[in-house]
Amino acid sequence: MRPMRMILVGPPGAGKGTQAARLIETYKIPHISSGDMLRAAVKEGTELGIAADGFMKAGRLVPDDVVIGMILERVAKPDAAKGFMLDGFPRTQPQAQALDDAMTRAGFDLDAVVLLEVPDQLLEERAVGRRTDPVTGKIYHLKYNPPPAEIADRLQHRKDDTIEAVTTRVQKYHSETAPIVPFYMAKGILKRVDGVGDPDEVTKRITSVLNS
Ligand code: AMP
Repeated sequence: MRPMRMILVGPPGAGKGTQAARLIETYKIPHISSGDMLRAAVKEGTELGIAADGFMKAGRLVPDDVVIGMILERVAKPDAAKGFMLDGFPRTQPQAQALDDAMTRAGFDLDAVVLLEVPDQLLEERAVGRRTDPVTGKIYHLKYNPPPAEIADRLQHRKDDTIEAVTTRVQKYHSETAPIVPFYMAKGILKRVDGVGDPDEVTKRITSVLNS
């Protein structure tokens, strides 16, 4: 299989993390999630984590210079030479431009940008009911994808999956992230996918647009 370099874009709660975990199995590429990397840095108490923590809790975006450096370093690692799945990056126009410049310098092209579309009114409930298993990294939803009873006690609720933070995150998505969509549309690599419905169905929709 040739290297696949792709990006998953979508509002908070669109299902990017859930879909990325499935797609990396199919395409055998590393899952590079800016949110996961930032949460790990916060947990470890690194300089980057300390800088990011307050922004994340409030549902605001971490400054571009912090995130761009972190991601460009990650995509330059040897395992990403066989392709990658970026999840949650880029989220602003300067981030999209920085990634584009880095790819041009490296002589690579992006293959696809999958835009997972979910209406705003569904996002709050999706995020507030979301739970993560710290042992397997799997994402559940209390109502739509209930976790097995035996792991219920260890599940974690993200600090930014509150109604207040989700409202801010959705606003930031519209003001900062949605404007990157025309950039990828102009390159002819944007794939719009309906993110509403059963996660298996959504995975099928994504693989079908990627294979077409
Ligand atoms: P996520 O897990 O993708 O929902 O990201 C969680 C939080 O991490 C976001 O609400 C932001 O505070 C921060 N974050 C993740 N990715 C980025 C990014 N590309 N640019 C700025 N902030 C980010």
